[in-house]
Amino acid sequence: MSAHDPACLFCRIVAGEIPATVVSRDADVLVIRDVNPQAPEHLLVMPTVHYSDVAQFVGFAPPDLVAKLFSVAGQVGREQSASGFRLVVNTGPDGGQTVGHLHIHVLAGRPMAWPPG
Ligand code: 5GP
Ligand code: ZN
Repeated sequence: MSAHDPACLFCRIVAGEIPATVVSRDADVLVIRDVNPQAPEHLLVMPTVHYSDVAQFVGFAPPDLVAKLFSVAGQVGREQSASGFRLVVNTGPDGGQTVGHLHIHVLAGRPMAWPPG
């Protein structure tokens, strides 16, 4: 884990090198709108420091940061929809992860189906 990976798309968004629609940010957590939304509301909640996936995050990152990321995701979800939302963390190739910087998807604004594809 390095704080900033210059080859990482989301590190570059965190650094302001690539534009994104920022919903909120502080020193620890950035929330942006997904460029290819899969629901009326589709946000991405990510640590500002680079962790490649959730397996490299939980158990390695400071526990306060793990708690904060999940807390922000839940708060953002509640703000998006009082009638419910979905948090998703795709992990690895079989998990459908396409960007190797941990992020929590917050999906809201429509009923979600189960099982996911
Ligand atoms: P993953 O497939 O890794 O779970 O999720 C990556 C997400 O990042 C996808 O939903 C994709 O639409 C989104 N994404 C990819 N490139 C960009 C970008 O340049 N800007 C933004 N805002 N989202 C992106
Ligand atoms: Zn990164």
